Amino acid sequence: MSNYSTRRSFLQTISLGIGTTIAATAIAGKNKYAPPGKEQKKLGVALVGLGSYAKNQLAVGLEQAGNCYLAGIVTGTPDKAAEWSKKYNIPAKNIYNYQNFDQIASNKDIDIIYIVLPNSMHHEFVLRAARAGKHVMCEKPMANSVKDAEEMVKACKDAGVQLGIGYRMHFEPFTREVIRLARKKEFGQTRFIQTNFGFSIGDPTQWRLKKDMAGGGPLMDVGIYCVQASRYVTGAEPLWVTAQFGPITDKERFTTVEESVSWQMQFPGDTMVNGFTSYKSNIEQLYVSADSGWMQLGPAYSYGPIKGRTSQGEMNQPVVHHQTVMLQAICKEFMDTGKFPTHINGDEGVRDTKILMAIYEAAKTGKRIPLV
Ligand code: NAD
Repeated sequence: MSNYSTRRSFLQTISLGIGTTIAATAIAGKNKYAPPGKEQKKLGVALVGLGSYAKNQLAVGLEQAGNCYLAGIVTGTPDKAAEWSKKYNIPAKNIYNYQNFDQIASNKDIDIIYIVLPNSMHHEFVLRAARAGKHVMCEKPMANSVKDAEEMVKACKDAGVQLGIGYRMHFEPFTREVIRLARKKEFGQTRFIQTNFGFSIGDPTQWRLKKDMAGGGPLMDVGIYCVQASRYVTGAEPLWVTAQFGPITDKERFTTVEESVSWQMQFPGDTMVNGFTSYKSNIEQLYVSADSGWMQLGPAYSYGPIKGRTSQGEMNQPVVHHQTVMLQAICKEFMDTGKFPTHINGDEGVRDTKILMAIYEAAKTGKRIPLV
């Protein structure tokens, strides 16, 4: 179980501000999910892997989103199947295990398969979901290698299905406001971004500490938020990266993955980024310094409430349930256009995977790794 998940979950505040107009804005005729005069269809989502994030966050979002619902589950644990079936009224025909999962292809109740398994399993299950002809959401980090990530994109393209990555911050109002302010240059050109995300990890036996399952340490798990943030704030791609591993202070936990890593990136427009991620330090911050002012989020990436200030004072934005607004927005876009939002699609996941791998290469070799 992820510590930052449990640490933050009690802080969640629910707001359904976004998405309540979905039925009203659905375009009759164009939207096969909302025929005129009929109640809007909800997209059926099947969760694959019923661990902490599926149980404590995504299932809650699916209950509240309004335009989608928990239609099916895929689990290797019969006890969980029974518990979830009862709690969410899921019929037996919509419950699968990892072996018979492929039969989901013929299940008309399932529109989207959402992969919430350990990182190393994302590749296999995205490919199987695509082969089943279902649209796919996959949790971050998309994959443990660029090759796997690219194969996932190709498999979904070949199957004619959508692929999205669970980049929830794109739908969070404080984050969206920082993106707007930075991209519109409300405080001038962004010159420097400081971004950190780390937490103190618990159970030394968990998969997050095993390189073959996690792909790496905190960089893969939470540092990815910082990489994403530097890209969504600038709206650009980094030119190069340098990086350094921090010391291993805990020899019990950090035998195969890093304990912490710092990195530096240059973006076009001479914007410099300093990133840091750790499984030992409780830290999360996004600081954006521009020519005539600054923006800061802290907490910046956990489930909230996110808090923000700019050089002009407090930011006032609604506090939302991240997974609810994410699911609402993705499903609305899909029902309106037949596509998932481009800013969270598989290509975005590939871009991030390339950067994560370049950070590891830079930290291992001590070299500056070009990214263009
Ligand atoms: P978790 O350990 O709580 O759950 C993992 C699930 O996978 C469990 O149900 C477990 O039974 C199942 N599983 C199947 N085969 C397994 C195996 N061989 N080893 C271990 N577990 C196995 O993990 P989680 O925190 O729910 O994370 C799942 C995914 O979701 C990860 O990719 C993680 O990065 C992502 N995640 C995303 C966010 C977010 O905010 N977007 C937050 C937490 C986790």
